[in-house]
Amino acid sequence: MSNISKSLYCNYIQCKKQIWLNKYKPEEYIETKNESVMENGNEVGDLARRYFGNYSLVKFNEVLIKMIMETKEYLKQNKSVICEASFKFDNLFASIDILKIDDDGVNIYEVKSSTEVKDIYKDDASFQAYILKKLGYKVKSVNIMHLNSFYEFKDELDLKELFSIEDITSLSIKKESEIEENVKEINEILDSEKEPDIDLDIHCFKPYDCPFFKYCSKHIKDNNVFEIRGMTINKKIDLYKKGLINFEDLINEKLNDKYLEQMDYRLHDKEPKINKDKIKLFLSTLKEPLYFLDFETYQDAIPKYNGQRVYGQVPFQYSLHYYENNELKHKEFLSEPDIDPRRSLAEQLVKDIPTNVDVLAYNMSFEKGVIKSLSNIYPDLSESLMKIHDNIKDLMIPFYNRDYYVKEMDGSYSIKYVLPALFPNDKELDYHNLDMVHNGGEAMDTFKKLGTLSKKEQEIVRNNLLKYCKLDTYAMVKIYQKLKEIE
Ligand code: SF4
Repeated sequence: MSNISKSLYCNYIQCKKQIWLNKYKPEEYIETKNESVMENGNEVGDLARRYFGNYSLVKFNEVLIKMIMETKEYLKQNKSVICEASFKFDNLFASIDILKIDDDGVNIYEVKSSTEVKDIYKDDASFQAYILKKLGYKVKSVNIMHLNSFYEFKDELDLKELFSIEDITSLSIKKESEIEENVKEINEILDSEKEPDIDLDIHCFKPYDCPFFKYCSKHIKDNNVFEIRGMTINKKIDLYKKGLINFEDLINEKLNDKYLEQMDYRLHDKEPKINKDKIKLFLSTLKEPLYFLDFETYQDAIPKYNGQRVYGQVPFQYSLHYYENNELKHKEFLSEPDIDPRRSLAEQLVKDIPTNVDVLAYNMSFEKGVIKSLSNIYPDLSESLMKIHDNIKDLMIPFYNRDYYVKEMDGSYSIKYVLPALFPNDKELDYHNLDMVHNGGEAMDTFKKLGTLSKKEQEIVRNNLLKYCKLDTYAMVKIYQKLKEIE
């Protein structure tokens, strides 16, 4: 019999076929979680251990019995908080993030780096409680410990405020008979060489994107419902279940005009659509000389600077192109690593951008949000920052409204689609030609690691970060010029 861990149990709750594929076709697995999500999880888990004061930690070991023995040893020593406390009943195994031991029973704390409690977390913690009860422990409480989205850092980290705890004890009791049945079924699935016959459904995306989606969707061809941009996953599944899968079938349905347009352009190789009047109207709202602004930010699950919220954006870099006497010029900012970058960035920003000029951003809600939060933190700079904020206009509008659309945009108005669609053969505007940093996610991960590098390596990495961000605003300049050619 295979071991059933808490993660296998949760995979089963999402989809029975997933656990079978994990065992019999692991080569079909395609990772869906990114690096920073996993790093956040580790950081939050490490911090949560300190919530109840001193603790004993069971070290990870691939030989599970060693973890179980170490747990037993701590229990014998009457330790009151054991992290990664490990238990086995039959073939069921669980390491409990935090086990708090009172005189009259034990308390389970499952730690999550999210700011909300998903149903799957409740299944996870209930499974752990089930094992402990089967082993004869008195489980006093079962809890989900997660980040409090309202927490704001002030002077020092307050763990009691940073974490929220949801007690799910009564639910976990209700789930006991369900777990009993589920365990039987899991054993049957894993013992059988026959692949479960389960079709695509909402479970392929919720609670997590399934790593076997490519394998399970190999029966559907390109130009299918899952490629429609902007449509909710519930709607896609609804259409899929009705047999409306291919663009050829979907194009005759009553759907949002934007979805129909994406399909129409792909299927019929249509000519570009340019609504000259609307574009002229948009351009008439802009006052030259223009400034083109783009920020790079990173997110910390655990805030570390005053005024920073859980998962708050911290701007560390910007690029600024602008015209002076009809000449294109450039300014930029990139913080040193491992310091709070916000004050020096805000100070330079108010020096670099006059308060009476129009500023263009692409998808301006992001840039506006960053400036607004800087203005809240630094009241002395607030007036200047908010003037810049109020002068921001959005270059995305003509593309968002589909006043300019070519088939290569493929239903997207993101600059990463719009730019190559407008300048297909321009190597200077091709992000693939950059070294190391090609998108915002890579910029964030690269900057976060900057402080760990040697001076020489830092210089190279900084240079690549600067080139990347500079291309973002240069791309905006080129898009603006392209729109002006239409006039
Ligand atoms: S892709 Fe969907 S059907 Fe296939 S294993 Fe994953 S959840 Fe199940």
